[in-house]
Amino acid sequence: MSPKTANVRDDDPRVRAWNDRPARRGDYVVYWCQAARRAVDNPALELAVARANELDLPVVVYEALRPDYPFASDRFHAFSLACARDSALALEGRGIAHGFFLPRTATEARGVAAKVFARAALVVSDEHPSFVFPTQNARAAARCACAYLTVDDLAIVPLARLPAHEVAARTLRPKLARLLDEHLAPVTEIEPRRRAEIDWPFEPQDLARADLEGAVAACDVDHAVRPIADRPGGARAAEARLRDFLARQGRHYAEARDDVLADQTSGLSPYLHFGAISARRCAIAAREALAEAARAPFLEQLIVRRALAFNHAAREVRHAAWEGVPAWARATLEAHAADARPEAAGVEALERAESRDPVWDAAQRQLLERGRIHNVMRMYWGKRLLVLLPEPRLAFDFARRAMDRYALDGRDPNTYAGVGWCFGLHDQPFPERPVFGKVRPMGLGALKKRFDVDAYVRSVRQPSLLE
Ligand SMILES: Cc1cc2nc3c(=O)[nH]c(=O)nc-3n(C[C@H](O)[C@H](O)[C@H](O)COP(=O)(O)OP(=O)(O)OC[C@H]3O[C@@H](n4cnc5c(N)ncnc54)[C@H](O)[C@@H]3O)c2cc1C
Repeated sequence: MSPKTANVRDDDPRVRAWNDRPARRGDYVVYWCQAARRAVDNPALELAVARANELDLPVVVYEALRPDYPFASDRFHAFSLACARDSALALEGRGIAHGFFLPRTATEARGVAAKVFARAALVVSDEHPSFVFPTQNARAAARCACAYLTVDDLAIVPLARLPAHEVAARTLRPKLARLLDEHLAPVTEIEPRRRAEIDWPFEPQDLARADLEGAVAACDVDHAVRPIADRPGGARAAEARLRDFLARQGRHYAEARDDVLADQTSGLSPYLHFGAISARRCAIAAREALAEAARAPFLEQLIVRRALAFNHAAREVRHAAWEGVPAWARATLEAHAADARPEAAGVEALERAESRDPVWDAAQRQLLERGRIHNVMRMYWGKRLLVLLPEPRLAFDFARRAMDRYALDGRDPNTYAGVGWCFGLHDQPFPERPVFGKVRPMGLGALKKRFDVDAYVRSVRQPSLLE
């Protein structure tokens, strides 16, 4: 039976204490919003409110967007700012102070979080196994004079309940099936008892009135990677996309998900990546809106594949690196590193989408200009790099960096599991062949069985056909 609420209980496996300090006297309880950029349906925020009420203190939300995280660009800054604007509106409605800090330079950013935490009785933040978050949490917890907790609302079933490093979806699926129902519930909002006017140690942005485009332009980030106009950030856009998908394409997902031209998948991955919506919320809504046969293939991706990626990130510290690819796959690819690759091109040419393979170039152009590639094309794009670059490790590094730099949903456990899959992760050995060794190959033939590849290439040249 499903629980009534996903709010965090005492001794909850979703909560991690990062230091052994108790809550102490302070001016407030802080929720430091890092990975889950939303103020609705957020169990970490509600834990902070509940603890603040117990301590008879106000709760405050601190959110920052530094310019010096890896691959910071207009694309990701614009999306994050739109998320923060939605959070500001939701928090204002609840009378919770929201301090949003937008430093333009790394120097401006230094030391500010520590000042916010110095006055806190307790800090609550977001659990996350990847990208900058493990380091940020460890550093903040070490420097905090008070207790520092994180809440895991990532892959529905808490990562702590999946302690083994799973080798494939087939080993994880039955474990998730046993644990899932315990965690499928919405979060209940708790009324804060005390309210606070905060004197923030920085100039907070008035997000409701700010010129967000101008604010991004003033930040020291990569301005060459442009925002994606048809993927606005924020919890409201996430909810609208979820509802639209469930009402229109959801019931055709099983038949249409591999048809790159039809482009019928949910498009939720950027919202899930920035935490504008939770996988939990999407799964609950899909259960309510779709019949069993229609929702099962969608939930397989949203729950099983996603949890597999997060499990890999949580259990393999090198998950974003070549060393995170299984040893058998690295060994076979390296054994074939000297195989002839007549189509090989340079890294710079590939980055500009100039490989001389029009299908690969079309996918790369979508990544550069639209910040996304359909799942089927991502598989072809990643596998093809083994042929287009002279060495497997170079191919892995190119794939990872390109996804991180350009994909709106990049810098995510799904990025590293998806890229890793192209090189043998979560897969099994296949009959040995040139270049790929025993790693599953994928060529143009596999795409042609699924959709009209020439029409795809044409549609990328005229993006309006893909709308
Ligand atoms: C080389 C490569 C790179 C990838 N990089 C990313 C990435 O940077 N970020 C990212 O979120 N996904 C990545 N994926 C996985 C997958 O391609 C995307 O999640 C999916 O295309 C997102 O589109 P959607 O939201 O419309 O998915 P839908 O088909 O609507 O699925 C719903 C959700 O399920 C999850 N999901 C779907 N497919 C997968 C999968 N194969 N593995 C894990 N979770 C999945 C995602 O959270 C997705 O939003 C990558 C796959 C490959 C092969």
